[in-house]
Amino acid sequence: MSNQADLMDKLTSLAKRRGFIFQSSEIYGGLGSTWDYGPLGVELKRNVKNRWWRDVVTAREDVVGMDAAILMHPRVWEASGHVEQFHDPLVDDRNTKKRYRLDHLLEAQDREVIEHLSKDLLDRPIEGNVDVHTITGIVEAIMSHPDRVNLNDYNILADGKEADWTIPRQFNLMFKTLIGSSEESGVETYLRPETAQGIFVNFLNVQGTARAKLPFGIAQLGKAFRNEITTGNFLFRTREFEQMELEYFVRPGESAQWLDYWTNARLEWYASLGIRKDKLRLRPHSEDELAHYCITCFDVEYEFPFGWSELEGIADRGTYDLDRHAEYSGKKLSWFDPDTNEHIVPAVVEASAGVDRTVLTILTDAYHEEDAPKAGGEGVERRVVLRLSPDLAPITVAVFPLVNRDGMPELARKIVDDLRGDFAASYDAGGSIGRRYRRQDEAGTPFGITIDGQTLEDQTVTVRDRDSMEQERVAIDRVKAWLRGKMG
Ligand code: ATP
Repeated sequence: MSNQADLMDKLTSLAKRRGFIFQSSEIYGGLGSTWDYGPLGVELKRNVKNRWWRDVVTAREDVVGMDAAILMHPRVWEASGHVEQFHDPLVDDRNTKKRYRLDHLLEAQDREVIEHLSKDLLDRPIEGNVDVHTITGIVEAIMSHPDRVNLNDYNILADGKEADWTIPRQFNLMFKTLIGSSEESGVETYLRPETAQGIFVNFLNVQGTARAKLPFGIAQLGKAFRNEITTGNFLFRTREFEQMELEYFVRPGESAQWLDYWTNARLEWYASLGIRKDKLRLRPHSEDELAHYCITCFDVEYEFPFGWSELEGIADRGTYDLDRHAEYSGKKLSWFDPDTNEHIVPAVVEASAGVDRTVLTILTDAYHEEDAPKAGGEGVERRVVLRLSPDLAPITVAVFPLVNRDGMPELARKIVDDLRGDFAASYDAGGSIGRRYRRQDEAGTPFGITIDGQTLEDQTVTVRDRDSMEQERVAIDRVKAWLRGKMG
């Protein structure tokens, strides 16, 4: 196993061991690419979300927040382009850059090709009841594990010519759901694949009630669902995830300058979370990868063990979204400029980030293994430490009674109770002090306080810094000030 893959495995196992992240429905064998956040994970995730909300919404005069329903009118997804764009299993011929619908492509092949495919697919595990002797069944089987079948092994021709096939992708990314009591009378809609549309359809409501003037932003944080075909890499690509999206409305001629502003602001934001700067970059999209609605787009990327990958997309979407919703709803979606007496359809600069990807980035970036002196003993031992930024760490300070007697537990509990109002504090009395340090290192707890024999004599405690492992004695009544000083 490569070191890189190894790191993702180590991270997944640490996340489970310490209660950050568990596989969804684990006792039933798990559900692919869905994850549950445990006691530490939920705190870390909440800290990320609060930080984003503070920096993008409450700290700014020009941005307001909202929270739309996950279920929306089905026409929304027609207007947004999702129904049309995310529909079929598609495959590209790298030679001609031409894209084909996989079922249409297979229908045009010789019988031998199809028989060869059917035979090979029969030998592989297939999800569900699929008849691989039909084109529909073959497509379904391929799309259940698109990366396990190499289409180039089957002499599949593109318009009669040799081709170089990519891995096919299923573009029907939306989860369908039925609103209503029966299959027949129910209305079909989708679990939202992004939060952005909830903002666009509320443009008039929010602008009017907030009396917002251009330029202004509307931000939203919430769940999104995509029936992703290629999943994996732990939290990186999941079927249910949370987004943090900002739609920033500007005068159409000003979108380029605002795109520039937001790309830099967003890159800086990740660095402000303590993520190493040399692992972050902005990557402009090339012409051929731009989404249908995008004029220009940048990705904030992080260098994961599996390569540079997107954390956030920042795009100039022009007036596409408001124009489309105006067309589909019949409502005029514009802003009246009182200075010029003009109705303006604003352009939109979008900054769309993933909460879970940010959590994965923070965990990946914070993970360290090193040799450290054994606590309270001779020699060195391997320690795993999460160097989380103190304001993101699920536990800011852990308090340890050195031994479970002589009044130390009682005093430790009193200190924890006192700290709880101001810090995420946790009482930890299980196992040797060395084991407790290691446990808190793995949880990313930046500070530890030990109550020992001397505490009972002079009312001082030992405070330990997670990263330097340095210890110093601080008077109990100075502990809060000491922590505040360290938090910056
Ligand atoms: P990708 O190319 O990785 O599929 P995307 O370009 O489709 O991503 P956007 O539609 O721009 O993603 O979504 C904005 C952000 O939402 C992404 O940058 C990512 O952080 C997050 N996101 C999107 N899809 C997923 C997913 N399946 N799992 C986790 N996060 C996701």
